[in-house]
Amino acid sequence: MPRLEGKTAIITGASSGIGRAAALLFAREGAKVVVTARNENALAALAEEIAAIGGEAAILAGDVRDESLHEALTKLAVRRFGGLDAAFNNAGVLGAMGEISSISAEGWRETLDTNLTSAFLAAKYQVPAIAAGGGGSITFTSSFVGHTAGFAGVAAYAASKAGLIGLVQSLAVELGARGIRVNALLPGGTDTPANFANLPGAAPETRGFVEGLHALKRIARPEEIAEAALYLASDGASFVTGSALLADGGASVTRV
Ligand code: NAP
Repeated sequence: MPRLEGKTAIITGASSGIGRAAALLFAREGAKVVVTARNENALAALAEEIAAIGGEAAILAGDVRDESLHEALTKLAVRRFGGLDAAFNNAGVLGAMGEISSISAEGWRETLDTNLTSAFLAAKYQVPAIAAGGGGSITFTSSFVGHTAGFAGVAAYAASKAGLIGLVQSLAVELGARGIRVNALLPGGTDTPANFANLPGAAPETRGFVEGLHALKRIARPEEIAEAALYLASDGASFVTGSALLADGGASVTRV
């Protein structure tokens, strides 16, 4: 039995990487998906791919920093598919990086707006729709960075990702009685454009360094992280809420 049969899910950051892999996996597991990111062409290509495997996707391009996008996404899920059961709020950026004195207030705010405030805005509109259907699941993509490991030069990113865990804990308690589970998913290094090793201009040895941070001595494929997102969205995780689920290849416990 497909694990999301009859469910509708919103997935943000679906034009690339983890969000794209999750959209395909959720659709393969029976979910109708509402996918968003700024790159509309990539969303259209994704929707075609989903249709080709027999799934259904609605696309809406926009910037997760805009409150109106989140309201429109939830309305689209309800209008097109009859309700909302799950959300994978996954869009994010590494954002402003560098030694603390070099980070501008604007860069800091942009990073926090994209990674953290967007999550609040998403939940604000998703919660009433999920509650109206009797409950469901909300997952936010955080990171082991800022939770179990500190790295120099990523203060804004780490603060934004740690902030998501506070948001999750509060919402899990606030929404549990309404049958809404809320969790954070903490990937390790994943082979997407957002990985340090894949940044333009990254030194060739950076990849080996990033791989070595993990007990498994490699980084993840986006599809492996999507499996963890599927688990949190599905009834298989029916007693999991308020958690910070590590899918980090052992990066959090590796010291040498
Ligand atoms: P990615 O391939 O670069 O995907 C990032 C996604 O977020 C894209 O779809 C991008 O779409 C979207 N996005 C970024 N800024 C946005 C904005 N302002 N408005 C709307 N959408 C926006 O990287 P990824 O690795 O899959 O990242 C997914 C999540 O995993 C992020 O939250 C990231 O921080 C987290 N994460 C990644 C790693 C890693 O090593 N890759 C590790 C831990 C956590 P558009 O550009 O089309 O808007």
